Amino acid sequence: MLCLQRNPPSKLLPPTHNAIGKNDMNLLATLIIAVLALACLSDKLKQLKREDLHSEWLGLPDLCKYKEHYQPNHNSRNGSTCCYCGSRSIRHFGLVARNDQRRIHTCNHCNANLYRTYRQSTSTNTHLSL
Ligand SMILES: [Zn+2]
Repeated sequence: MLCLQRNPPSKLLPPTHNAIGKNDMNLLATLIIAVLALACLSDKLKQLKREDLHSEWLGLPDLCKYKEHYQPNHNSRNGSTCCYCGSRSIRHFGLVARNDQRRIHTCNHCNANLYRTYRQSTSTNTHLSL
């Protein structure tokens, strides 16, 4: 005679406590909203800083106006001189980054910002223009 033994019914396991509760979901949603708000704010601040830098760059005279105003009788081929200290050592750098086409020319001696230029670059050759 075949006797089939039935396994006793398994007891239901108690509910686990690792499920995410309602309070945890609210906290998570708040954190996500806060992170998104901070990212938007950071992006807006960066944009404002870029606009300020561009406005400062536009506030400098271009090379023609600089020469007209500060060196009307200076016809040297070697460029201009600093209007504050007379130094001929002038460096230029990009407004935001090294390769930025918006250039600021600064005196190496007294560190004064003198004038601005816009560098038109091609793939093989770069030169300065006004
Ligand atoms: Zn100078």
